[in-house]
Amino acid sequence: MRPALESFTPDDVIHFAENLGQACFTGTSGKIFPVGLKATQLLRAWLRRLRERGVAFQYRTHWCGFGDGGTILFAHEGAVAAQKPDAVLLALGGASWPRTGSDGAWTRYFQPDMLNPFAPANCGFRAALSPAFFSKHEGAVLKSVTAHFEGRKSRGDITVTKNGLEGAPIYALSAPLRQRITSQGAAELRIDLRPIMSMDQSRENVARLRPRESQSNHLRRLGLSPVARGLFQEAWFDHRDGLDLATALHNVPVRLEQPADMARAISVAGGVRQAAVDSGFMLRQRPGVFVAGEMLDWEAPTGGYLLQACFSTGYLAALSVEKWLTRHAG
Ligand SMILES: Cc1cc2nc3c(=O)[nH]c(=O)nc-3n(C[C@H](O)[C@H](O)[C@H](O)COP(=O)(O)OP(=O)(O)OC[C@H]3O[C@@H](n4cnc5c(N)ncnc54)[C@H](O)[C@@H]3O)c2cc1C
Repeated sequence: MRPALESFTPDDVIHFAENLGQACFTGTSGKIFPVGLKATQLLRAWLRRLRERGVAFQYRTHWCGFGDGGTILFAHEGAVAAQKPDAVLLALGGASWPRTGSDGAWTRYFQPDMLNPFAPANCGFRAALSPAFFSKHEGAVLKSVTAHFEGRKSRGDITVTKNGLEGAPIYALSAPLRQRITSQGAAELRIDLRPIMSMDQSRENVARLRPRESQSNHLRRLGLSPVARGLFQEAWFDHRDGLDLATALHNVPVRLEQPADMARAISVAGGVRQAAVDSGFMLRQRPGVFVAGEMLDWEAPTGGYLLQACFSTGYLAALSVEKWLTRHAG
């Protein structure tokens, strides 16, 4: 990815947007947003620019594989036609959110040895919590908690789904979590329910609790939301581990057993293998056919990194197309 990211950097994305009349600003998280906070204005301005430059769009047209003699096949209004372009750049996406058209069906037109299988990325996970927990807390949000796994951590809101957990902190750790589940059948995530509080502060708070009161009351007095109390109590029963209450509040273990469905994942791992393309993202087995975006096998957390990788691979692939045309087109 490095050559791609260096050929079209995060600053280039900002300049690209600003050049299209969409000023950007840096949010408190350090992420960059268009001032209008909407992608539609940028998209409209971009399409207008492309039309002005003579780009022809053909909608309701489906690429359906490679034909004979270097042709590619398109289905349009029920008819399949072959075309022989000077170069092709495919950007057909991954296999998550199929309702947007990115269903990964293009893989059937590729040799199996050119592909790594798709796996959900930036996804939620099925969690080993009780049915009672899910029926009571589905849809509830654990606000501003920190998820820890393998020495990495990520802070934000975690939402309870019908059988698991999802949200930015889990998405950010989804690659190592998925790999651990694949190799060992499960992964233990630790959730810090009070990340802004130091352990000493938590111990002081716990020391002030009345010993005779129930644990539920203690948790309520410590300011935990109903869903945080529910999660803590499930973990406390299973993994007491001799931890004192204050320590346990910063270390709630949750066993994750399976990534959520690919169709609900924000992105995918897998796709066209690195070995199947050259340094300019041209398919080694199909000279003149280039690939960019999520079709390629790379993985990144959400927060702009995915879009950056799509812009950067698209840009580098387009430069390679330009070089290819200079060398080969008549
Ligand atoms: C809900 C959601 C939220 C996201 N949020 C973020 C975020 O905050 N930050 C971030 O960086 N990324 C985010 N992403 C990820 C980002 O949107 C994708 O990584 C990126 O759009 C992928 O771009 P792409 O051009 O490779 O593919 P896509 O955007 O998937 O586009 C592929 C296109 O190809 C079309 N297509 C597929 N097969 C064919 C065919 N055979 N013939 C013709 N057309 C075909 C599809 O219809 C689709 O229009 C989010 C994704 C989702 C689903």
